[in-house]
Amino acid sequence: MSKKVGIPKGLLYYNFYPMWKTFFEELGAEVVTSSDTCKKIIDDGIKTCVDETCLPVKTFMGHVIDLKEKGVDYIFVPRVISVERRRYLCSKFLGLPDLVRNLISDLPQIIDMKIDYYRGEEFMEREILRVGKLFVDGTSKIKDAYEKSLKRQRTFECIIREGFSNTEAIKIMEGKKLDANTKGDLKIALLAHSYDIMDDYLSMGLINRLKNMGAYVLTTNMIERDKIEKGASKLQKDLFWNYGRDILGAGKYFIESEDVDGVISVSAFGCGPDSITEDLLERDYKRDGKIPFMSITIDEHTGEAGLNTRLEAFIDLLRWRKGEIMA
Ligand code: SF4
Repeated sequence: MSKKVGIPKGLLYYNFYPMWKTFFEELGAEVVTSSDTCKKIIDDGIKTCVDETCLPVKTFMGHVIDLKEKGVDYIFVPRVISVERRRYLCSKFLGLPDLVRNLISDLPQIIDMKIDYYRGEEFMEREILRVGKLFVDGTSKIKDAYEKSLKRQRTFECIIREGFSNTEAIKIMEGKKLDANTKGDLKIALLAHSYDIMDDYLSMGLINRLKNMGAYVLTTNMIERDKIEKGASKLQKDLFWNYGRDILGAGKYFIESEDVDGVISVSAFGCGPDSITEDLLERDYKRDGKIPFMSITIDEHTGEAGLNTRLEAFIDLLRWRKGEIMA
């Protein structure tokens, strides 16, 4: 009987799920995800963490508990240190397996693969082989599974660049047929970590709300690398958090290109890095003043009514600027 590997639907699930799933399935494992985020998952996560923890990490803990209750053999909690050279993820990712082990009792075995591309391919190969040997003996089979998973990841990223959200791209990779929503008379850049906006429960369906109001939504992951780099090159000081740098780079790029009608920055309550990047973005947009900017902070108490009112007001402002509605 194949071993069950649980993958929590939180944090970098939205960036790497097709790759991780392929790797484990190629090794003969059955991949099980946690349920969609719901009140119980959030409440379980909140009970587990100290108050100061950011909402996405609290939610992740709730997903780990959900998988524990599903009775899987392993839970995949990678220690993601670096996904590109000379840049790092926030400290919560570096210590995630330790947080999980120390905060939640009676867990199945945690697969704490170190993902650190800064340390080079040789290091990654050692980690891949270490984890792969939990499932098969042959080195070539493990390397082959890794190669296939990298290929799936490239396909996944191409789908996102065609205008699909990460969540839609995951569905497409699983065989669903979807149309890219590149229509909409307003083009809005939604600058945020993927896990803040792709989780419909946490974000209260923010992307769909904007689409239903007639916007074409562009997320950070959809923006071409060269545009982000162009924007990031304008930073006075380079940022070492790679996802925060992507958000700032995209923000800087849109100030110069004026390629969108409006920009919305979404951050999570309790996030240290976001408090810096969001403040820098807001100052830039206020100083420049050409593109309307709005920031939204999500937390466990954010209400739908308040969010809708702010979105409607922002959309009205954008339409008024385009001359579609009279003052
Ligand atoms: S970047 Fe912010 S939201 Fe993301 S894990 Fe770190 S503290 Fe939490």
